[in-house]
Amino acid sequence: MSLTTGAPSVDLGQAFPELTAYARTTVRLHPRRGEPGMRDSHIGGPLLWPAGEAWPECADQESHGDPYPMVPIAQLTAADVPEAGFPAGTDLLQILWCPEWHDQPHPEGRGQACRVFWRRAADVTDVLTDQPDPEEHWDHEWDMIPRACVLQPERVAEYSWKEELPEDLRGRIAAWLTERGLADDGSAIPGYKVGGSMNWSVSDMPRSLTCAACEAPLALLLQLDTYEWALGAWGPAGEPHRFWPLEERHLERGDVEFDLAREPAGMTVGRAGHGGLFVCSADPTHPPCCFTQ
Ligand SMILES: [Zn+2]
Ligand SMILES: [Zn+2]
Repeated sequence: MSLTTGAPSVDLGQAFPELTAYARTTVRLHPRRGEPGMRDSHIGGPLLWPAGEAWPECADQESHGDPYPMVPIAQLTAADVPEAGFPAGTDLLQILWCPEWHDQPHPEGRGQACRVFWRRAADVTDVLTDQPDPEEHWDHEWDMIPRACVLQPERVAEYSWKEELPEDLRGRIAAWLTERGLADDGSAIPGYKVGGSMNWSVSDMPRSLTCAACEAPLALLLQLDTYEWALGAWGPAGEPHRFWPLEERHLERGDVEFDLAREPAGMTVGRAGHGGLFVCSADPTHPPCCFTQ
């Protein structure tokens, strides 16, 4: 089954043509609980990990003393999500993190210590079958361990988060929306997604989002979200939230199926918010950063 995002309640690009310079495509991953294979794209779940390569550990003594095996967050293939920006010669992306909070390479980047691996799947001939069980090591941080999910990528257009816009344009859009009693559901969209723009409504956007190694701008690689869509009516007509997939609108609030669709990975990111894993836009093998909202 493929999942489809609803139409935005307002097309801001029509009212503000200069906004189209800030339009981009993001890939909603639509994770849903499942049993992904080692070679598939997925959130959580087993990685196509070389048997001869040590499993990454987090050795931050201050946070948890002994080194602990890191937890698989996502695996993406170039066939499913080419937009992830695979370096030449690679077609497999693996992301792991430590469920504890840590200092990170970015000065404003306290969050999950994370590792990003770019590989060529064909190079992994001997696969590590006995992978660390997150539950065994991390039962006290279960909130930050995603349950295994399969993906159904969907391309969706969005505009940048408002703090990325020129101040004048941002002010005019806000006034225009207020005047009409409308809310913007076309910018920095929620849920698990690859690429695009992150919503920084909890803390302001860091003043500089640059790579600790080379100072090139950081780019959102993967957004992780507690919820795929917001509850309640939306806009003056009281429509359901546009990010509730059209194919799942028969689900009843309060039912297990509804919760599994809305909170597929079972993670509480930050204070029931969302987070973004950012990589260097010049060289994605530079140290990544996680920011939580
Ligand atoms: Zn750690
Ligand atoms: Zn860099």
